[in-house]
Amino acid sequence: MEWSGQSDERDPGQPVRVVTSRRPRIILLDDVTVVYPGGVVALSLVSATFVAGDFTVLLGPSGSGKSTLLRCLNGMVQPTSGQVAVEGFPNVKDGRILRQHRRRTAMIFQQHQLLIRQSALDNVLIGRLGYHSSLRTLFPLPKREIAIGIECLERVGLLHKAMERVDKLSGGEQQRVGIARALAQKPQIILADEPIASLDPASATGILGLLRDVCKENDISAIVSLHQVEMAKKFADRIIGLSSGRIVFLGGRDELTDNILNTIYHNASARNAVPSGSPTETHGNSFPGLAVSQP
Ligand code: ADP
Repeated sequence: MEWSGQSDERDPGQPVRVVTSRRPRIILLDDVTVVYPGGVVALSLVSATFVAGDFTVLLGPSGSGKSTLLRCLNGMVQPTSGQVAVEGFPNVKDGRILRQHRRRTAMIFQQHQLLIRQSALDNVLIGRLGYHSSLRTLFPLPKREIAIGIECLERVGLLHKAMERVDKLSGGEQQRVGIARALAQKPQIILADEPIASLDPASATGILGLLRDVCKENDISAIVSLHQVEMAKKFADRIIGLSSGRIVFLGGRDELTDNILNTIYHNASARNAVPSGSPTETHGNSFPGLAVSQP
C-alpha cells in the first residue's frame, strides 16, 4: 500500500470529486479482515482512513467488530488479510516499530484500567513509562516527568485530587484520570473503547466533551467506540457504522439518518439505507450500497 501522506477528502455528498486535504493521514486500513481462532470473522474487508485531529466514532451493536477494529489500529490484533499502514512506519508488524507506534497511540478503556490503590498522579505517570527503559522505570521519575503528569491532571480539572487514591474518586473522575494518563503519553492517536459506558448521562456528556476538546487542542486523532447514538451525533466529526464486521456507513454526523441507523443496528438492506443523493461506493467493503463520505 502506497503512503501518500495526505488525505483525499471528498466533499460531503460528492463521492466522485476528490479534493486533497492538508490534514495528514495517520492510519490507513486497506481491506482488513480479521478471523479469530475458531473461525469468527470479526472484520471483513474493512477500509478506512484516519487523519490528524479528527474525532471519529465507531457505532455498531455488540459483536459488530468495534473493539477488534480498535485493536487493529494499535497492533494488538494483526489482520488475517489486508493491511494496516501507519504514518511514518512502513511495517507496523516489526516489533520495534510496533512499540513506537504504541507509544504514540494512547488507550482509554470502559473500566478505566487504573491502579485503584495508587494516587491519581501515579496513574497518570504510567502514561510516561513508554518513554523510558525498563531499568529507568525502577527509579523515581525526573521532575520534568512529574510536571507533565501534573499539567495533564490540571487539564482534566483534577489537580486538587492529584494525591487522592483512585478508588476514592467517582466514576467520572476516574475516567478523567484515564484521559489525563492518555494525554501524558503525548499521543498522536487516542483509541477509546466505550469510554462512557459505565457513566451516568451527565458525566458521560462531560467526559466525551472533555475528550473531544483535549484531542482538538492537541491535534490528536481520536477513534472512539460508543453505544450512544445521540453522543455520536453530538461529538463526532465522522462516524463509522459497523454491522457484522463490515463498514456499512462512513460519513458525517448530519448524514446519520434513521435508515442508516436501521442498517447499522438491524442489518437491514443497505440499499434501503442510502438516502437519495448520498454518496455510494463499495470502497473495498464489499457491501452493496455502502454510504461513504470520508477523508
Ligand atoms: P464489539 O466491540 O463491537 O462488541 P468485538 O470486536 O469485540 O465486537 O467482537 C467481534 C466478534 O469477534 C464477536 O463475534 C466476538 O464474539 C468475536 N471475538 C472478539 N474477540 C475474540 C477473541 N479473542 N476470540 C474469538 N472471538 C472473538
